Amino acid sequence: MIDTISAYPGETRFVEQEVLRKIPDPCVFVIFGASGDLTHRKLMPSLFSLACEGLLPEKFAVVGVARSELDDDSFRQKVKAGIESHSRLKPDECSAWDDFAQSLFYHRVNYDDPASYKALKKLLTKIDKQQGTSCNCLFYLSTPPLLYPVIVGQLGNAGLAQPSEQNWRRIIVEKPFGHNLATAVELNQQIHEVFDESQVYRIDHYLGKETVQNLLVFRFANAIFEPLWNRNYIDHVQITVAEEVGLGNRAGYYDTAGVIRDMFQNHLLQLLSLTAMEPPAEFNATALRDEKVKVLKAIRPIKPEEVGTYTVRAQYRTYRDEEGVSTLTETPTFAAIKLFVDNWRWRNVPFYLRSGKALANKVTEISIQFRHVPHLMFPLQPGKQLPPNVLGLCLQPNEGMHLRFETKIPGAGMRSQSVDMSFLYEQDFGKNTLPGAYERLILDALQGDASLFTRSDEIELAWALVDPILAGWAGQHAPVLAFYESGTWGPGKTDEFIQADGRKWLYGCGRNGVSST
Ligand code: NDP
Repeated sequence: MIDTISAYPGETRFVEQEVLRKIPDPCVFVIFGASGDLTHRKLMPSLFSLACEGLLPEKFAVVGVARSELDDDSFRQKVKAGIESHSRLKPDECSAWDDFAQSLFYHRVNYDDPASYKALKKLLTKIDKQQGTSCNCLFYLSTPPLLYPVIVGQLGNAGLAQPSEQNWRRIIVEKPFGHNLATAVELNQQIHEVFDESQVYRIDHYLGKETVQNLLVFRFANAIFEPLWNRNYIDHVQITVAEEVGLGNRAGYYDTAGVIRDMFQNHLLQLLSLTAMEPPAEFNATALRDEKVKVLKAIRPIKPEEVGTYTVRAQYRTYRDEEGVSTLTETPTFAAIKLFVDNWRWRNVPFYLRSGKALANKVTEISIQFRHVPHLMFPLQPGKQLPPNVLGLCLQPNEGMHLRFETKIPGAGMRSQSVDMSFLYEQDFGKNTLPGAYERLILDALQGDASLFTRSDEIELAWALVDPILAGWAGQHAPVLAFYESGTWGPGKTDEFIQADGRKWLYGCGRNGVSST
């Protein structure tokens, strides 16, 4: 039933009340790599917060699977420690811990040993009998990616992947999904030998962020922006995903991946797709993902010989001193790229994407810069222009939106100043109201809603766009690797890159130097 209440402010509108209330079917959540960092910091804390909110089924169990020497009790203690440090809702704030702890089990495996999966099957049957979880099973691959095909194959051989009319089997696959197009295609094939695409949930946790989903509501539940959302009014779009931290202890993965694989192939291209896509006719997984795929297909690929024109690559100056990194490594920790979406809506509107490690701030934002007014009746000094309007979408932190526009400065004459009209989540909805991305995505997968997960064709199209950039960087046309100081916004070259187009980077959600109303 649709709640059509339209009074405002503060009312819930167009909410499918039944979807919100829908508790997933009874099931078992099986995590491979359960002794690892992701399980500790994100997966179990998210499941616990869902339990506290009453959003998990009554008949529910978690089986942690890994090689480490743990048993049910030590696994429960480890999980509790992770929840105490990382969960949005803590055990002392919610009475769910005792029941939740009783639903946790640990199963030790050798990932490539069929006997381990036979024993897992036996355990799942036992849990189904004890807990009444109805043989519904959600597997989560949270191991190093090399193990994904091994585990998937073993699940297939053990008969654990096959759904029946009465029960479902699903699998969530963590990123990175492949190392390039060829390996992503291969991994898709390996998974499809065992699981049907409808059972597969490729996770990009960016899509679970409230602010990213709000892009859909903002664009498609408001009439005023759509007429402006095209090349006639928009000058260009900037998407920034900046990390303040450096490498940390991720050298093993990161030094072979670099910023393009780590950030652009997934998060940045997803944000671009959501910003640029056409309105889907309905809100469902197929319609939404079809529109995103159309955007990816319309992006003009950067050819290897064009990387000098359309990309900047850089490394923070102390990267080569990090533990586990070779002193000669050329792995970029920062990149800026310019893309075009060749369709009617976006023809010739540049999308500037940048991302890096060890930058000045941790921010994710999208800035839409509009065109200058076509004719200005107010006299300006020669060579001066009024600043254009900018719509800034702050995805994190200080989640909210800002619209920059010109106003008259009170008093004599006609002087103007840029001001900022803002909406801040925290102000309107209160503190700590944004559920974590993993909470949302795990719940969606438990409910069988794949809208916010990446489909196989999306993954492959994204790789097809970044592969030629990586090839260009490895070849004779590679731009010189620039270096930047930690705590800055990247190398000076990145400013030259955008200034060459007569533009500049926007900061603070497009509010560079703007006073607040
Ligand atoms: P970890 O490196 O902590 O590994 C998870 C578990 O996998 C380990 O505890 C280990 O358990 C098992 N494992 C099996 N073989 C190996 C091996 N050769 N080397 C290391 N561990 C092995 O990974 P994370 O938990 O950090 O991440 C899991 C997956 O999620 C990865 O694919 C990662 O890329 C992805 N991811 C992680 C994020 C994070 O914040 N951590 C964010 C986004 C994605 P045991 O030895 O007990 O079997």
